[in-house]
Amino acid sequence: MSERDVSELSVGKVYLVGAGPGDPGLLTLRGRYLLERAEVVVYDYLANTKLLRHVPGSAEFIYVGKKGGGLHAFTQEGINKLLVEKALAGSMVVRLKGGDPFIFGRGAEEIEELVQAGIPFEVVPGVTSATAAATYAGIPITHRRYTASVAFITGHEDPTKKESNIRWDKLATGAGTIVVYMGIKNLPVITAKLIEHGRDPQTPVAVVRWASTPEQRSVEGTLATITDVVREADIKPPALVIVGDVVRLRRTIDWYEKRPLFGKRIVVTRTREQASELVALLEENGADCLEYSTINIEPVEDYQILDRELEDLDQCDWLLFTSLNAVTWFFRRLRERGLDSRRLHSVKIAVVGRATGEELEKYGIRVDLVPEKFTGEGLAEALIAEGVKGSRILLPRAQVARDILPEMLEDAGATVVVAPVYRNVPPPGRKEQLRGQLAGHGIDMVTFTSSSTVTNFLTMVDPASEAELQELFRGVRIAAIGPITAKTVQKNGLRVDVQPERYTISDMVDAIVDHYRTSGGMF
Ligand code: SAH
Repeated sequence: MSERDVSELSVGKVYLVGAGPGDPGLLTLRGRYLLERAEVVVYDYLANTKLLRHVPGSAEFIYVGKKGGGLHAFTQEGINKLLVEKALAGSMVVRLKGGDPFIFGRGAEEIEELVQAGIPFEVVPGVTSATAAATYAGIPITHRRYTASVAFITGHEDPTKKESNIRWDKLATGAGTIVVYMGIKNLPVITAKLIEHGRDPQTPVAVVRWASTPEQRSVEGTLATITDVVREADIKPPALVIVGDVVRLRRTIDWYEKRPLFGKRIVVTRTREQASELVALLEENGADCLEYSTINIEPVEDYQILDRELEDLDQCDWLLFTSLNAVTWFFRRLRERGLDSRRLHSVKIAVVGRATGEELEKYGIRVDLVPEKFTGEGLAEALIAEGVKGSRILLPRAQVARDILPEMLEDAGATVVVAPVYRNVPPPGRKEQLRGQLAGHGIDMVTFTSSSTVTNFLTMVDPASEAELQELFRGVRIAAIGPITAKTVQKNGLRVDVQPERYTISDMVDAIVDHYRTSGGMF
């Protein structure tokens, strides 16, 4: 090991990383790169905890609490000390700070301490909440027609104090757009100061709370009225105040809060591996997704049946895949046996739906048959129409699954070899959290993408009685991907509100959007 390596090991490094304003998609690539390598992460309440997903599970997570105090909050001094201590212990430390670390973030104070202790550091800028709040409220903070200047100010200091750092007389008319951080408490005095120093009381003002998150709320008024508007709407920190004629453009540009599923909290019940597509599409439309993993997928104990068939796949006429997981686990086993896609050269392949077919393409496999109806029955009918009498059909699938497909094919004269390749197991419970959310009416909709998600979800909820089940689901809409899933919902005493015509994730999301459009978002 060279001398340099040794010294790098002995002292760590601190990265001050801007977490962005809230939307986890607004983190920089550099920020993500560093989070993925962090050994210690120190974060506070403005940094979205969703970003912690990027951090390896082995890292140490330290929450330093609310800005401006609170029972368990660290003091600024405490945070500075902590960073020094962790770096001296040799760790790669990411200090994750809301917005941009150097905009009203006390980032410099943390750096000064590191400099004094001789600790290497780097600062990664972030999207500051002022630009994000304006953009996500449909307000361009500059515009050729309205303003050529912007001022970012803090509203935290008491504007009536003698020694104010803000020259209200110059600011009031000196900057076209004024964005006030931490300005809610002092809003009456701030607006009064601006008016007193010559800003037109009719100047439009917007206040945006929790910008760029599903909880975003914005209200609008003028310098003269905004204090009342904020009080009546009960807007609390964290919020930004945007003052200037550009606020007028909101009427045309507002986009974020106008997305069809904005403000809707939707539960996604899928396996860990599969949730991402549904979540991505729902979030694209503005929904706030709560992911509940109802199934964990695990390997089966015994692959004998599949292994035997793989030895001599030429004997098979058809290979059927009825789920994405079947594809994944089939190929996993193929690889484990030291084989690859070439083994499939002579067998025809059929799948139950488009997504499964797309998954196969990742392995370089083109599908020979996709039924028009994306169900087991649909697939059986399509195969029977091709003529399956006397043929040998391999069906790798879940350990426990419906028997209708193999039964229909065998009735038509085929030999079906069912090979279990994975199994569904319920994950360790998050019962209390889920029940709390349902009971608090914090959930607008629950989505189900298979019968087992329904059964597992209800096992997780574990209602004591039919009456309790109905009470927990009062006001909660239910979306089911297809008729079989819907039937399972109904069998359990609940009502299905949304069901797409075609059983795909994207059709399901379209149906959910339509549902809220036509019902106007009301129950
Ligand atoms: N460094 C941060 C600002 C920290 S000061 C940044 O660059 O954004 C804390 C203040 O920032 C809050 O009181 C509020 O005024 C503002 N703020 C931070 N995140 C916000 C958000 N998502 N929505 C609205 N205001 C926010």
